[in-house]
This record gives sequence, C-alpha cells and structure tokens, in this order.
Amino acid sequence: MFGFRKKIYFDNNATTPVSKKVRYRINNVLKTCYSNPSSLYYSAFEAANILLESRKTLAETINAGTDEIIFTGCATESNNMVLKSLCDHFLPEKNRILSTPVEHPSIINTLEYLKIKTGLSVEWIPVDRYGFVDIAKFEKMIDERTFLVVCMFANNETGTIQPVKEITEISHLKGVPVLSDCVQALGKIPVDMKDLGVDYASFSAHKIHGPKGSGALYIKKGAHIASFIHGGHQEGGLRAGTESLHNIAGFGEACKDIPALLEQHDRILKLKERFAGGLKKIRNDIVFNSPLENALANTLNVTFHGIDNGVFMGMLNLYGIAVSAGSACSTPENKPSQVLKAIGLTDNETRETIRFSISEATTEKEIDYVLKVVDNYFTGKIQPIGMISPGQLDKDLLFHKGLYILDVRFGYDRLSAKSLPGAHECPFFTFRRYMKKMPRDKNILVICQSGMNSPLVAYYLRAKGFRQVSFLMTGMLGWKFAQPELYKNYAGQNIKHIEEE
Ligand code: PLP
Repeated sequence: MFGFRKKIYFDNNATTPVSKKVRYRINNVLKTCYSNPSSLYYSAFEAANILLESRKTLAETINAGTDEIIFTGCATESNNMVLKSLCDHFLPEKNRILSTPVEHPSIINTLEYLKIKTGLSVEWIPVDRYGFVDIAKFEKMIDERTFLVVCMFANNETGTIQPVKEITEISHLKGVPVLSDCVQALGKIPVDMKDLGVDYASFSAHKIHGPKGSGALYIKKGAHIASFIHGGHQEGGLRAGTESLHNIAGFGEACKDIPALLEQHDRILKLKERFAGGLKKIRNDIVFNSPLENALANTLNVTFHGIDNGVFMGMLNLYGIAVSAGSACSTPENKPSQVLKAIGLTDNETRETIRFSISEATTEKEIDYVLKVVDNYFTGKIQPIGMISPGQLDKDLLFHKGLYILDVRFGYDRLSAKSLPGAHECPFFTFRRYMKKMPRDKNILVICQSGMNSPLVAYYLRAKGFRQVSFLMTGMLGWKFAQPELYKNYAGQNIKHIEEE
C-alpha cells in the first residue's frame, strides 16, 4: 500500500492477483462485446454465448450440470441466497440449521441475523483443536426440525479441510440438505459436486485469479431455491439484473487454469513446510493452528506468543510483506477471530496470530526473505514500534506538551467513537501527503479505531525519520472502554483537520 520496493504477497486467501489471461479476456469482452445478453440481435447472441461458455466451464470444473450453476455478485451473496431462501421455505414448520462455528462471516453473520429476524434456531456443531467437525456428535444433533446443514469445504483461516462427503452422507440419510462453502477449496484441491454430494455450494472468482465481484452458486437439480433478487428473468429468474458479462467471462477464464493450479499442490506444500520449519527454528514456542494433514497446502496459521498481530503486520508491511490476521472480512474491527476462538484460542491468543497464505507463484527465495525478516524482528535487529496501552493513556499523558496525536481513522469510525482531545485528524490512505505538517520534535501517537491500522502508519513514519512514534493499542474503541471518565469529559474536544492546518 505504501509503495515499498519489495512486494511479497502471502495473503492469497484474502484474494489472488488477477491472471494475465483473465485480464486479457475481461478487456476483450469489455471492448468487443458490450451487448446485453438478453437482447435479440447478433452481438447480443454473442454475449449470451459468452455467458453460456463460462457457465459450462465452471460446471465442468466442479463436475456439475450447466443448469445447476447460477452466477452471483460474490460468494457472500451465494451464501445469503441459500440461507435466506431456505429459512423462508421451511420456517416455522422446521426451524433448525446445524452449522460449524468455523464458517466464514458470510455464513455466521447471516445466521445470526436470521436468528433475530425469523426465530431460526442455530446449533453449532462441535469442532476440535483444528476446526474439524466432530462427526459422532454431529450425527446425534440432526433431528426432525433440522432443515439444513452448513459445512465449508476448506477453512479460510486455518486451511482445515472438512469431511464434507461424510457429513453429506449422514445428513442425507436423515433427509437434510447440505450447503458447503467451497470458496477456498476451488483451485487448491479437487472440487467435485457429484462426489461431495452436497445440495448447494458457493464459489468466488477472486480466489482463483479471477475478478472481484463475481461469484457462483451450485444448486443441485431438484434442490429448493427461491429468487433472491427480484426483477428480470436473468439466471433463471433467481438473480435478476443484467449480468456482469466481463466478470463472468473472467471467472470462466480463471476456471480453465484450475487443472494447472492443482498440479502445483505438492510444490506449494513443500514451500509451506520449508516456511513452517524455518519459523519453528526462529521461535520454538510458536503454535501452528493449521493441521498437518487434511489441510490446504498454501495456508499456515501461526500464534506467536507475546506479539501484537497489528504491530507484527505493520512491521512486515514495512518490508513489503502482505499477510493477514484472519478473515479479511472482519479485519477493520479487530474483533477476535470467531474461527480461532472456536478452536480454543483465547481472545489474547487470537491477537497474537497471523495467517500466511502462499500460492503457486511463491518462491523459495521469498520464503527465505520472510523468514529473515521475522528472525530480525525476534532477535531485535528490527526495533519494535512503541505501544501505548489504553490504561497508560491517562490525563497526564493525554495533555502532555510533547505529545502529537495523529488520528488516522475513517469518517464512519468517528461516528461510533469521538477522537482524543487535541487530535489531528488525517486520512489513512493519504496520510503521506501531510507528513510535512507533522512535528519531528514531538512524540507522535498514532491512533485508529481498533489498533490494526495505526501500527502500519507508525512504522512508516519511523522509517521516514520520525524518531519518536508509537500507537494506541486497541485504538479508540479500547480507550473508550478503558477510560470511560476521560472519554466522557474530553473526547472530541479541540480536534484539528490536518488538511486545513
Ligand atoms: N467464504 C470463504 C471461505 C471466503 O474465504 C470468502 C472470502 O473471503 C467468502 C466466502 C466470501 O467471498 P466473496 O468475497 O466473493 O464474497
């Protein structure tokens, strides 16, 4: 983000780079095929044909029928569509969904919403230390009120591969359909709808080098589904709206590379093992939250005791290394990861945890470079950035003459928590433009909403010669909670906008 020379991308579970072939295909469709696939003239037939070809390609990739696929705006939409559709259909006669607690937020948060909105009852299937479903317990949980079982194929945070086939067989014996989120599995392990037997499965183009904003839903022939977006007849009347043809064409193009991606499996696994071994040599006390077997070859989830993952990511970012703390969909709030909590980590441990997700493009050289940076950090060759805890930031420190408070929060964050008194509000994405306005002789305290973004800025400022820089751990939300009196009496006072200073 800050334009560093080196770019090491170890965050492929968040999204993947768009491949050259996909870019070319998208540009070509945009340029040559702008007609509406629903219109009635030759160029529109061409557009409709692109749609059909992409649908065929995806269907062949996952061993499904062409009429079992609909294109959506993203996998989040696909998941929403199934959950909401089935709730509408089954409640109140049947009112129970069984789901694993390690699903993506697009499942968990939708289920939470439906619980409140419709009276749905959600039961969480017990999982073990790595998030594997406890099959014996699961089997006992299905009853006549259950109308859906939800179990993802591969986990985005830990890489755990669930026994979806077995879960589906058990569910079907009791007449209950299964939704499997296959977003992280596609392109990393074979995904075969007939073999898995599931009734619904969600997919996303941007995890397989396709474009963002393009998803798909597999609906087994005969399985119930209702229209999600009402309007025209597109996608069999289930998802109205003119199709995003270039994105769908890009999705289809990306699918064509899946066999080649799968061939890279063992090479990627070797790289991960080299990385894991290297990390263990640096710090023997690290804990791997990804299982050794039945896991994605590219994913390594690691707890480094004693670190703050915001600080660690900020430091790695300074060296051009992109990683995540967990699901990209829950990053800005810095809420403890539900996945990691479900597998037994404490809130504190979730904040000491980093997800590395490599890809077929990763090289040994990159692995060794990242190991070197991590080693330098733990051996003190890279100085850690100053951290101020919410408890430390008392009235004396808050109003200290030598303190310059830089608030890099977004506008919407400021609605839920006012800033520290005397803060200089500065946009996160463009703060570099205003560096000249920041004093070099003061202690700069960078604050954000939850303590995830501020370390990035703090590290950057230090690299640019600001000698005394620190950040507020857990951000304004943490400080508001820890210092309610100070917040009530002083927050929001005397705020300055750096653009206008
Ligand atoms: N499911 C899983 C397992 C994911 O990893 C993601 C993306 O992070 C999604 C669903 C959501 O995909 P999309 O970004 O297409 O909505």
